[in-house]
Amino acid sequence: LLEVDGLTKTFGGLVAVDDFSLSVERGEIVGLIGPNGSGKSTVFNCIMGLYDVTEGRIRFDGADITDDATHEVVNQGLSRVSQESNPIDSMSVADNIELFTLPNSVFSLYGGASEAEIREYAARIDIEDDLDQMPGELPHADVRRLEIAKALATEPELLLLDEPFAGMNQAEIAELSAQIEGFREEGMTMVVVDHNMGGLMDLVDRVVVLNNGDFLAAGSPDAIAENERVQEAYLAGE
Ligand code: ATP
Ligand code: MG
Repeated sequence: LLEVDGLTKTFGGLVAVDDFSLSVERGEIVGLIGPNGSGKSTVFNCIMGLYDVTEGRIRFDGADITDDATHEVVNQGLSRVSQESNPIDSMSVADNIELFTLPNSVFSLYGGASEAEIREYAARIDIEDDLDQMPGELPHADVRRLEIAKALATEPELLLLDEPFAGMNQAEIAELSAQIEGFREEGMTMVVVDHNMGGLMDLVDRVVVLNNGDFLAAGSPDAIAENERVQEAYLAGE
């Protein structure tokens, strides 16, 4: 479904991602991990058309999306939950979700959603009771769920989740993991980023490891957890 082929991204003299390749099959949940600053978010930003790619090609469902703008990438069925939450604080949760379905918004896909559709997106991530709240009134975990609901509102086939578990307690991580599993059962494919080998290791089918912009290793969660080079990279980053 997604092919990242030889992706390189530089910022001035800094090589943030160096000749990185990643292939994601339909129905998979792939983990992308690596110490802080290893280039995970940069890979997502390149896929989503937010950064110009220095070198390499990105294909989604057979189409070359390397040079597509964000709204074109989203319209083709890709969506991303950013590492940082950025709800509009002066708008209700429902209106924040609706914004991602409005005609003429950069994320416009199917036209403005009805109230029932917005409730449905919220229900898929269990925040339907929060629809009339303002984002500032929500606990952290629910703000993160709002960010996921916004991404769901674009009806993605492939969802990129950047640090979805950050700042959550064990119970919240377990709940979110189960919801992400549910998305897979609904037919969604996902790439989940985490900076450590936390809750994501129980969720994903396989793990790809980045270190200083370089591909370091790939394998099953168990194999990666025991991989000495991966352990060394994490120790070096501390
Ligand atoms: P974290 O776990 O902290 O989120 P990450 O793996 O997501 O880290 P990136 O955010 O992709 O890492 O950053 C990779 C490198 O690229 C870092 O050195 C970062 O400072 C640099 N970088 C990322 N975005 C930019 C930018 N817009 N301008 C300049 N440098 C950038
Ligand atoms: Mg990041």
